[in-house]
Amino acid sequence: MQAEEYNRRGKELVDYITKYLSSIRQRRVIPDVQPGYMRELLPDTAPAEPEDWQSIFDDVEKVIMPGVVHWQSPHMHAFFPNVTSWPSLLADMLANAISCVGFTWVSCVACTELEMNVMDWLCKAVGLPHFFLHYHSDSRGGGIIQGSVSESTLVALLAARKDQIVTLQAQQDHETDDSVLNSKLVAYASDQAHSSVEKAAQIALVKIRFLATDEHLSLRGETLKRAIREDRSRGLVPFLLCATLGTTATCAFDTLSELGPVCAEEGLWLHVDAAYAGSAYLCPELRWSLQGVDFAHSFVFNPPKMMMVHIDCAALWVKDKVKLQQTFAVDPVYLRHENSQTVPDLMHWQIPLSRRFRSLKLWFVMRSFGLTNLQGHIRHTIEMAELLETLIKGEPNFEIPAKRHLGLVVFCLKEGNASTQELLRRLTRCGALYLIPAEIHGKRIIRFVVSSQHTTAEDIRRDWSIISKMACDLLADSRATQTP
Ligand code: PLP
Repeated sequence: MQAEEYNRRGKELVDYITKYLSSIRQRRVIPDVQPGYMRELLPDTAPAEPEDWQSIFDDVEKVIMPGVVHWQSPHMHAFFPNVTSWPSLLADMLANAISCVGFTWVSCVACTELEMNVMDWLCKAVGLPHFFLHYHSDSRGGGIIQGSVSESTLVALLAARKDQIVTLQAQQDHETDDSVLNSKLVAYASDQAHSSVEKAAQIALVKIRFLATDEHLSLRGETLKRAIREDRSRGLVPFLLCATLGTTATCAFDTLSELGPVCAEEGLWLHVDAAYAGSAYLCPELRWSLQGVDFAHSFVFNPPKMMMVHIDCAALWVKDKVKLQQTFAVDPVYLRHENSQTVPDLMHWQIPLSRRFRSLKLWFVMRSFGLTNLQGHIRHTIEMAELLETLIKGEPNFEIPAKRHLGLVVFCLKEGNASTQELLRRLTRCGALYLIPAEIHGKRIIRFVVSSQHTTAEDIRRDWSIISKMACDLLADSRATQTP
């Protein structure tokens, strides 16, 4: 294709994207297809000869869209939001055009330097401690964009593990093998922690204990202290706590103000997973749960969840970059450069070597919206969730079994788990909105998260009327089958 043709096709695609996003409400959120639907629509092998662009483009509606879950729809309430925006989309287009592989500073200077600057902007914008900043005279830390929160938690766990092993070896005159020390390590998280914490421990071959939470689904300092005492008495070495701010099931918050001092007294690395809630800290009035964050060694959140930035863009900060470098640094001759000693090579802060120009989307978004409009988006999300909460409270068949936080409301039918599960099954089959289940202490619940920045009160009322009508029909059916 010639440049002119690229240009025309590019504009055509942008028009398609604009139309797709502006008419997304009209699409069914959950696709109505069966497993393997695409097998019948595609040939068995790749074409030997080039195909006409128009026929490829036409296949987007015919082949792809029928199987798409429309995450940008205001009626998407499953999982956590994946909110996007046009500045982010355009930034990703530009990143794909530049298409650098910014593993070392020298491999694309702007890629590393913009990342350092925007991670400092973001750190200040969400009220995190100054020791996470790149550019601060008292800081040994800094921020990096990782692909996901799961990856970031694994990175933090591997760094904490290495740090503990180095300390133990120094105490034992380096006589004990790493693998023997590794087998003694134990990490902690709450019983509400995301599965990525379990996965990180699984990969690192370290023991992990999921500790009981209180009536607010929050992990408390005393519980952690007790677990550490028990484990030390069994000859184990506690080395890490992963605390969650905004759990996946109900958006509960671990009590960082109690956990932080325990970690400091006991020499544990404190990693904070604020995947969803992190963006909310843009609003000063929502920072109450950050009390104790001064004790953190690492902190991660996911801007794509509420900051209108596309995935992959997890913001991870560490207090001491040397701890990351001693875990991940390798030094092949082909990656060395003149400035290696004076500038950060972010490949030493992560697992892969390659890295995309991801900071562009954070930069475009923060500048295009300004912090004021990003705060406005978060406050609007909360307002929409409060509206739903009020609607649920007005219906006697429903219960809200855990306190609402931010944009996540959980509810269930008073009739019990089987009815709640059946309601969810019917809602999923109808496809007009997307919700998923969770469980709290044996109780089956339905999670409703406000996701799109375009969600209106009318959208919330429409979704609630579908849910409540379906619940009425379900309860009527169940009464009819119980009547002799
Ligand atoms: N941690 C929490 C609390 C989450 O809710 C999630 C996902 O929603 C994750 C981690 C995993 O995030 P990612 O998909 O970025 O790995």
